[in-house]
Amino acid sequence: MLGWTKGLAYTLKNLSKEKVTYDYPNEPLPLPDRFRGIQKFYPDKCIVCNMCVNICPTDCISLTGKKNPDPEKKGKVIETYDINFEICILCDLCTEVCPTEAIVMTNNFELSQYTRGELYKDMAWLDANDKNVRKENKV
Ligand code: SF4
Ligand code: SF4
Repeated sequence: MLGWTKGLAYTLKNLSKEKVTYDYPNEPLPLPDRFRGIQKFYPDKCIVCNMCVNICPTDCISLTGKKNPDPEKKGKVIETYDINFEICILCDLCTEVCPTEAIVMTNNFELSQYTRGELYKDMAWLDANDKNVRKENKV
């Protein structure tokens, strides 16, 4: 008899306390500032220098570029940019080395898919991945 009154008293005492659970996935989880989530890509900032490709420890980035079609501008523009998230380890090296911050980490960690092929993300997908860009990476 005493046992259930103890339990009830404990429940009542904790009812008024602040919740320690989150309403995920209806609300995004608060993550640390330096969380390394799925990259956001800014095609206009990319100078096709290949530094991200060269530093990637798992060879999961592939890109192509072409000469800038504007005769008044030098350099290259990006044509395709793909990351294979089957093998990307979200190590942050590609974003650290990028001289123009064309690729940055976000707080987005939701990558679950039904097929492995869906883990290949192209430039359009990475460009649109801006729901959860880290504060310091917002333009
Ligand atoms: S986070 Fe690391 S493993 Fe993933 S694409 Fe960048 S350098 Fe490669
Ligand atoms: S390091 Fe940056 S600028 Fe260079 S190719 Fe990669 S994303 Fe583009």
